[in-house]
Amino acid sequence: MTETTCCEKCGELMEYYHESGSCGMLCPKCGWGWATTYFSPIKADKTVYTVTIPKTDRPQLNVIKCLAKLRQCNYLEAKSLLQSSDFVISGKAKEIIKYVRAFSEFGADFRTEPEFPYDIAEAE
Ligand SMILES: [Zn+2]
Repeated sequence: MTETTCCEKCGELMEYYHESGSCGMLCPKCGWGWATTYFSPIKADKTVYTVTIPKTDRPQLNVIKCLAKLRQCNYLEAKSLLQSSDFVISGKAKEIIKYVRAFSEFGADFRTEPEFPYDIAEAE
């Protein structure tokens, strides 16, 4: 942050703080400050990410299960999806995080472009 704000009470330079769920400004001297609604960066992110699972003749069972769950299809459909071509899904961060999270949990061999910068365990 480049802008500076001074405390209205004592004139001390305010410090920006950021905790889970909220952020704001706080005076380090007298403690005066305010919180602002924290917008999750993942929700504000307009980047379109592409998640790819490369085509494979022998998809891992756990990946098939994972995909079947995400697509709400049966295992056979999920398996043929993985066998017929690369499985590709793209969307904004908030839309594809469930895929990134699930594929990570299931140990799928996948790649994300651009690299997914969020902590998938934390993000909503
Ligand atoms: Zn102050």
